[in-house]
Amino acid sequence: MDHFKYKNGHLYAEDVPVEKIANDFGTPLYIYSYATLIRHFKAYEESFKSIKHLTCYALKANSNSTIVKIASKEGCGADVVSGGELYKALKNGISPKKIVYAGVGKTKDEIAFAINKGILMFNVESLDELLQINDVAKSLKKQAPIALRINPDIDPQTHPYISTGLKKHKFGIPIEDALEHFKIAQSLANTKVLGIHMHIGSQLTNVLPFVDALKRILKLKYDLKNLGIEIDYLDIGGGIGINYNDEKPPHPSELSNHILPMLKNLDITLILEPGRSIVGNAGILVTKTLYLKKGDGKEFIIVDAAMNDLIRPSIYGAYHRIEPVKKTKRNTILADVVGPVCESGDFLAKDREIKKVNKGELIAVMSAGAYGFSMASNYNSRPRPAEVLVKGDNNYLIRKRETFRDLIKGEIIPDFI
Ligand SMILES: *Cc1c(COP(=O)(O)O)cnc(C)c1O
Repeated sequence: MDHFKYKNGHLYAEDVPVEKIANDFGTPLYIYSYATLIRHFKAYEESFKSIKHLTCYALKANSNSTIVKIASKEGCGADVVSGGELYKALKNGISPKKIVYAGVGKTKDEIAFAINKGILMFNVESLDELLQINDVAKSLKKQAPIALRINPDIDPQTHPYISTGLKKHKFGIPIEDALEHFKIAQSLANTKVLGIHMHIGSQLTNVLPFVDALKRILKLKYDLKNLGIEIDYLDIGGGIGINYNDEKPPHPSELSNHILPMLKNLDITLILEPGRSIVGNAGILVTKTLYLKKGDGKEFIIVDAAMNDLIRPSIYGAYHRIEPVKKTKRNTILADVVGPVCESGDFLAKDREIKKVNKGELIAVMSAGAYGFSMASNYNSRPRPAEVLVKGDNNYLIRKRETFRDLIKGEIIPDFI
């Protein structure tokens, strides 16, 4: 069931007209559907309920406190990649025992923070980091639980910038070095080996790369057992894609149908780290058309949202469907949908056959719930948008629009100036 759809010619978020929310809170504006979020969390739970598992929501997709709290209430843990995300996960009720911490550049302070809070495990990305974690744990007189992130050298067949599991990428430990690294980890006094981690990329539209990577990881687990190293957690990362345009990404149940048979008879807890597939299609970005302008062979639709609000089109050439909020009979035109930022890379759609819109009209940028607000910035000194959650016929402001005052918060002008 799609919770963003037209009724009587108006786009609705669940049971609330998008136009009404935009009138109340202004534009640009992120709107999220509660029912969609719940459906997605439940899809993971339902698909993997037959084995011991933990779904760790990847905060980097969208770390609004309300969304993290919903994840927490649905029983999820968190996948964090910074001290800030760890703070937000804990603050919103996620038990430290359900938090895994990845990322190639964890600082000493972040490591100490995570050890002191008692997280489930670090997903360690290099030997250097492993030794650092051991040192920090020693100074705290503690043992740090760890998994090694293995780079299985599998092509996830997605955009190069969001693919992470090939040899040439900065992530994880090359699979051929894995045994050596595990032996070292096992020998350290202040780390405790708990698991193997992988995360091969994002926006995967096929389960086969997961299956191929998991095969390699299972072989590793077997080899480790022969060395006397027991693995309790297999963390297969996130990465299931969503439908932006005409992709046909796998449902979590398709992933579970493929991988659960491979895990039969293994006494492990499976960890999943979905981000995009939870929140991507649970959100839209609503923006208003400011000006129309004729270009060379195409038109420019200039809107009040820009690359600072949604950067995916600019940095990945990502496709987001664009729909007028009012559904009427319209001609199509060839257009770029662009924002006010002073960069040629500032566009939400490029060379797109698009329904003709009028000045002052609202348009919706679809599938914008993941890596939308979380990648937003203040570039061009633009306050970041408000965020609203819709549940049924109610809507809730879950983050205020930033003000000009917010733009100078924390800035200090030295006395001599
Ligand atoms: C980004 C990331 C995820 C989430 O990826 P999605 O494609 O949004 O599901 C999970 N795990 C790690 C380690 C990540 O870096």
